[in-house]
Amino acid sequence: MSEQAQPDDEGPVVTYEVRGPVAVVSLNRPRYSNAQNSKMTYALDAAFVRAVNDDAVKVIVLAGNGKHFCGGHDIGTPGRDIHESFQRKAVIWWDHTDKQGVDSRFARESEVYLGMCRRWRELPKPVIAMVQGACIAGGLMLAWSCDFIVASDDAFFSDPVVRMGIPGVEYFAHPWVMNPRAAKEFLYTGGRFTAQRAHELGMVNHVVPRAELERTVFEMAERIAVMPRLGLALTKKAVNQAEDLMGLRTGMDSVFGLHHAAHAHNAEVDVDSLAGLDARAMADAGKPTAGGV
Ligand code: ZN
Repeated sequence: MSEQAQPDDEGPVVTYEVRGPVAVVSLNRPRYSNAQNSKMTYALDAAFVRAVNDDAVKVIVLAGNGKHFCGGHDIGTPGRDIHESFQRKAVIWWDHTDKQGVDSRFARESEVYLGMCRRWRELPKPVIAMVQGACIAGGLMLAWSCDFIVASDDAFFSDPVVRMGIPGVEYFAHPWVMNPRAAKEFLYTGGRFTAQRAHELGMVNHVVPRAELERTVFEMAERIAVMPRLGLALTKKAVNQAEDLMGLRTGMDSVFGLHHAAHAHNAEVDVDSLAGLDARAMADAGKPTAGGV
């Protein structure tokens, strides 16, 4: 398609806006279903830091501009930047760009995928994910690192990366954000869970008509915003600690090793660490997805 030959000239990949006590951080690559490249990761991080440092901001909303919240990590747009070097923020590790194999992949994914999502989960202010349309693979990681999700009735969720031979995305929260049997179905089939199904499983807090999504989220944010800042921060930490005591953090660490065993296996026996599947191949195999692992 013609986009492949064009530079990534879409403007800022993340937009930032403050509405009263609420900061709205929005993914802004709607042309590519908000596929996440590293540039977007670091722009997101900068926006979150800005919101945390602004005392007037009490609540953060994470949104996606356009039809879809997020189609996944960027595995095929002209703005894919996996070989670029960035100032690391999430972990203390070496740069991946001059390394090879696991040495490179583990460094990069520890930073821009697992490390960043963990860092954002620990933001000391409430974060609400406002999800419409697709929320696929890497998109799940963003939504799951938020405190809760409000979805429109056209939203759908999927993690199709088992098709690449990989046991789910790097931020492996699946068995905690839904029950383990549902997580297996979600991963084994790679299919879509509707917003309603996700709500029934406890992964999504509220499902509302598309036209009411923004109003619903902002009403919730305004209600939360009257609470004391420190109370909210400590409460968030309390629940996150409880979730970690239920195994989230250690479980995620152990699966990160399996994830990298799968990448390495693919690189060893196939054409690349993604088993040769780019965004187009993933979309063709399991309509629809704009992103992947
Ligand atoms: Zn990976």
